[in-house]
Amino acid sequence: MLLWQLLAEENAVQDAIELHHVIDFDGNVGQQLQILNEEAHRASPVQIVPEEEPEVLSDTPKFSCNVCLDEHPLEDVAVVEGCGHEFCRDCMKDFIESKLSDGQYPVMCPICQASRDNTGAPRGYVGRYLIDQLGFTQEQYNKWIELELNQHSMTLECRRCGSSSLVSREDFISAEIFHCPSSECDHVWCKRCGKTIEAAEDDEDDDVSHSCDGSTEFARLMSHSGWKACPGCETPIEKTEGCNHITCQVSGCNTHFCYKCGETIIRSTDNTEISAAWRSHFSADCPLYGMPL
Ligand SMILES: [Zn+2]
Ligand SMILES: [Zn+2]
Ligand SMILES: [Zn+2]
Ligand SMILES: [Zn+2]
Ligand SMILES: [Zn+2]
Ligand SMILES: [Zn+2]
Ligand SMILES: [Zn+2]
Repeated sequence: MLLWQLLAEENAVQDAIELHHVIDFDGNVGQQLQILNEEAHRASPVQIVPEEEPEVLSDTPKFSCNVCLDEHPLEDVAVVEGCGHEFCRDCMKDFIESKLSDGQYPVMCPICQASRDNTGAPRGYVGRYLIDQLGFTQEQYNKWIELELNQHSMTLECRRCGSSSLVSREDFISAEIFHCPSSECDHVWCKRCGKTIEAAEDDEDDDVSHSCDGSTEFARLMSHSGWKACPGCETPIEKTEGCNHITCQVSGCNTHFCYKCGETIIRSTDNTEISAAWRSHFSADCPLYGMPL
């Protein structure tokens, strides 16, 4: 009897232990479910904590980092300007470091970058204040400054004397011609084709005329040297001697024109027709007829 009682009691204890295990196990499942729920809640896309009244979760104000989704004391917050998205300093620093090593600039806020929002909501960019706040190495800081400068300015370099200077991006974009930054060099060149632009020798107009295909320069040379282009085929012709009756020598052009006024007299190969046209031009049409060459 005693042995049976002992055995029965032992069974009861065993039962109780097993029951306790079940309770304990259930309790764990419940806890795990709760943790999963909390994580799902935290992972919900954007948590906006109003800046004026931070959500007070305990004694110290906290915020949720948009990257690691952990809660951090508010003093660890790194806020991106423009959008106000909040990150913990560690996450933001890692993010900026990876962009810096890729040489990417400007650096857009990671949430804004991932967002497919096309409603024109302002997008945030990492500014210098965040770089100052997060504390980078001197090398990383220099790299940032370099990227920042390159973004807002362009290097102007003179091919002739080798001197260079930074100009603002707006000036660079709006300019058509560049003057060498050195005061000892008078090199002027075209932004588009890079060709040197010779200053006009006649100071009639201050504008430096240039066209990338050279046609403006050629026209200026023509007018400067007194050359005329054949009105029939635009071939430049220099008259060195003889009368003002020019017969274009380009085969098939057959244009006869007046070197005085540049007008076409006739396009013909018929000598009788040509003579008549000339007489008519010099007797009436040409205002320069009779003037010295
Ligand atoms: Zn974080
Ligand atoms: Zn953002
Ligand atoms: Zn120069
Ligand atoms: Zn040009
Ligand atoms: Zn011609
Ligand atoms: Zn003649
Ligand atoms: Zn004429």
